[in-house]
Amino acid sequence: MTLIDGKAISAKVKEEVKIAAAGLSAKGVTPGLAVILVGEDKASATYVASKEKACVACGINSYPYHLSAQTAETALLELIDELNADENVDGILVQLPLPKHIDTNKILEKIDPSKDVDGFHAVNVGRLVSGLEAFVPCTPLGIMRLLAEYGIATNGANAVVIGRSNIVGKPMANLLLNANSTVTITHSRTKNLAEICSQADILVAAIGKPNFVTPDMVKDGAVVIDVGINRLENGKLTGDVDFDAVAPKCSFITPVPGGVGPMTIAMLLQNTITSARNRLKRSK
Ligand code: NAP
Repeated sequence: MTLIDGKAISAKVKEEVKIAAAGLSAKGVTPGLAVILVGEDKASATYVASKEKACVACGINSYPYHLSAQTAETALLELIDELNADENVDGILVQLPLPKHIDTNKILEKIDPSKDVDGFHAVNVGRLVSGLEAFVPCTPLGIMRLLAEYGIATNGANAVVIGRSNIVGKPMANLLLNANSTVTITHSRTKNLAEICSQADILVAAIGKPNFVTPDMVKDGAVVIDVGINRLENGKLTGDVDFDAVAPKCSFITPVPGGVGPMTIAMLLQNTITSARNRLKRSK
């Protein structure tokens, strides 16, 4: 069994980003990422702080907007309009979840698709599904990078994704399909889940339930990717896979923490670089 080292690969991606950002800056296009946080949710504030820190460490300008929980939807829409028009901003990220009085879909659809580095805008979703160049959500994009780095073949592989969220499950399935896997998407209404999962060459778990994937759900020699981040009562972080029991059956497995998690921010930076490169191309 090989442990997939997301920390090491994310460090490699960040190094690539650093070099690319320096190259772009030398040509007068310093990549810039605007990060909007609405409200005081602690977990969101922590995520946003690490995104801002990672930007600065890689030579990307960070434009933080920390707004109060009472911010009106119209004010947020106006801010996005301003950022859409701002030449120095290559990426716009709105940290989710938003307060209940704000319509998340309305906000995400306001972001210019060419600055949608989270890949949540319907235009980018549609482009991904169509197999066209698109901004792709960072977590599944990071997983594809992990598979590539470890030489894991997707071509013809039987891939099963547990979870159908817009952020992880659906884009993951589309990326695997585009990479010629035979893909099954499963969810809370799926019948015979264990049997379906036990056929998978590549099993991706994005459920949000600690230790959900047990050895009976895993084929001998399978590649198991654990997207889950669950905080147990004792404060320990654990994935969706019962790691100790499942790992001996796997050819490759991601740990939690240190597997998929570190890739998400790295791919956000990479998407920002892609957007800045597009800006440079447009300016020529
Ligand atoms: P989500 O929106 O809550 O989606 C969870 C999915 O799991 C849903 O599609 C749900 O099915 C399915 N599910 C729930 N119970 C199930 C069951 N008993 N059997 C089969 N499927 C079941 O969650 P998410 O945003 O995709 O995130 C999933 C996990 O990944 C969470 O732990 C989250 O913290 C983590 N995550 C990690 C990263 C990272 O950077 N590593 C990024 C994003 C998310 P239904 O659709 O039928 O309800």
